[in-house]
Amino acid sequence: MSGELTGTGLCNCGADRCTGYKRDGRHVEKRDMPKLAPYRPNGSLCHYEKDVPWDGVIEWRPIEPFHAALTYAGFRRGRSAAYFYWTDDATGARYPMFMSGMDGALEAGAVQGNRITGRFTVVKMGQNYGLSYLGPAE
Ligand SMILES: [Zn+2]
Repeated sequence: MSGELTGTGLCNCGADRCTGYKRDGRHVEKRDMPKLAPYRPNGSLCHYEKDVPWDGVIEWRPIEPFHAALTYAGFRRGRSAAYFYWTDDATGARYPMFMSGMDGALEAGAVQGNRITGRFTVVKMGQNYGLSYLGPAE
């Protein structure tokens, strides 16, 4: 069910073109990542484009690394794999995270109790969007 973990995680090669994220054992280059991701008006990231309540309102926002302090907010089962939710302590916005994102954060020792602080970016896998941990705050 979750071949998703194989060869995914953080890339530390430091190349300019690198997103800092690995998939299928190779790093993902910036030009191969989507430039926009779907958000709810309240700032929550949609797990997929149709991941909206009845009003159907989404906003496409640019994907840029950002700093946040997040608190664990449970998990869901998607069609292909389970994923996790984090809530932004400052804004209340909710972010889904793939298993590979959680794996990267745990590997890096970034999860403390039920919280994580650092830099994040949004990644897309298949039709789904999720948060990826990039590293500690600079
Ligand atoms: Zn790389």
